[in-house]
Amino acid sequence: MSPRDALLQTDASAALFDRARAVTPGGVNSPVRAFNAVGGTPRFIRSAQGAWLRDVDGNEYVDLICSWGPMLLGHAHPEVLEAVQAAVARGTSYGTPTEPEVELAEEIVSRTSVEKVRFVSSGTEATMSAIRLARGFTGRDVVVKFAGCYHGHVDALLASAGSGLATFAVPGTPGVPASSTELTLVLPYNDRAAVEAVFAEHGDRIACLVTEAAPGNMGVVPPEPGFNEFLAATCTRHGALFVSDEVMTGFRASRQGQWGLDGALEGWRPDLVTFGKVMGGGFPAAAFGGRADVMGHLSPEGPVYQAGTLSGNPIATTAGLTTLRLATPEVYDHLTRAGETIKAAAAEALTAAGVAHTIQSTGTMFSVFFAEGAVRDFDDASRTDTAAYGAFFHAMLERGVYLPPSAYEAWFLSAAHDERAVQTVLDALPEAARAAAA
Ligand code: PLP
Repeated sequence: MSPRDALLQTDASAALFDRARAVTPGGVNSPVRAFNAVGGTPRFIRSAQGAWLRDVDGNEYVDLICSWGPMLLGHAHPEVLEAVQAAVARGTSYGTPTEPEVELAEEIVSRTSVEKVRFVSSGTEATMSAIRLARGFTGRDVVVKFAGCYHGHVDALLASAGSGLATFAVPGTPGVPASSTELTLVLPYNDRAAVEAVFAEHGDRIACLVTEAAPGNMGVVPPEPGFNEFLAATCTRHGALFVSDEVMTGFRASRQGQWGLDGALEGWRPDLVTFGKVMGGGFPAAAFGGRADVMGHLSPEGPVYQAGTLSGNPIATTAGLTTLRLATPEVYDHLTRAGETIKAAAAEALTAAGVAHTIQSTGTMFSVFFAEGAVRDFDDASRTDTAAYGAFFHAMLERGVYLPPSAYEAWFLSAAHDERAVQTVLDALPEAARAAAA
């Protein structure tokens, strides 16, 4: 601990954490928030404005989590708040079709590869529904995924690789029955030979291959050039669907998501795409969409059932629509510039302190691995020095920078990360890098 550690008061967060643990498993409603990977007391946030979080003890932090991606414009953006407040005043949910749903669907269709889109309330629901649709459309059962790619807590996708490459998966957590993962195949990311091998063996049973468009949940691992196009072409050749999970990258890696960085340029499209995070503007909204003929299999147009009480909620769709309309090319230019400044300073500080590290990006998304050498897949990512990251994380936190409390996450910026916010990060880096080296 550095002498500054004593300066931050965390009594109110600690007291709330005690109360929370008495009534909620681990004191949190999503595991990573509990700080288990880095130790210490999670900060309970009372309010947020622009690039800054303020906790219940009154400490302020530059936010590099951005609600795990959604807050592209920063917190409490005045125009988003105004639109949301006006929407709330008109009532919060009707269970009927509404105009904002149509407008948000039009916006997503105009910006991405999808022809039709269906709204849901979480990224988990989006991937779960996309897989059901792929199975219903193809009449096949098997799903292929990559190790280290997270698609939400869908039973069939909480799967670990079986004993051999083309072997069916085993449950990745207690509570998932073997029957839920016995139709899932798990492959190493960026490995074309492995993809070819499973399609050669199981191709006529594969309903879909689902992948993060660029993995961000094992840290940022960009697809090697042409990898997504190769996946799409392989699926097409075998009559399977290519499902691109853009829950994290959508409207974040670029204005058109990861597809804007590879597919849009090369002229190919995924069959289905899932979205979430940014498109909900900080509310529980997500979506899946894709080819019109595939989406036509969804009820009530087609036979594949899917539904949701709060799907397309008018407040969430209003927040998402306002966010996307404000997400201009200038916003992405700003994210790129701020990201480049932080990446360069992090590399300099970690190099000066002698800490092994690798910084990887896709579009405006990036992460800092505490490991030497390029990270191509989950095995590479697993070499991360999590103890060094924990020390680094706490030193940054004590200096007013809230990084993700896990070594395997992207660092998220927003349009509101101005010079003062970025400078706060830069000022904290050298001491944090020394803490990581200690
Ligand atoms: N897919 C990806 C790529 C994600 O990053 C996430 C969440 O982090 C999900 C799906 C699941 O989304 P949600 O947490 O909204 O269920």
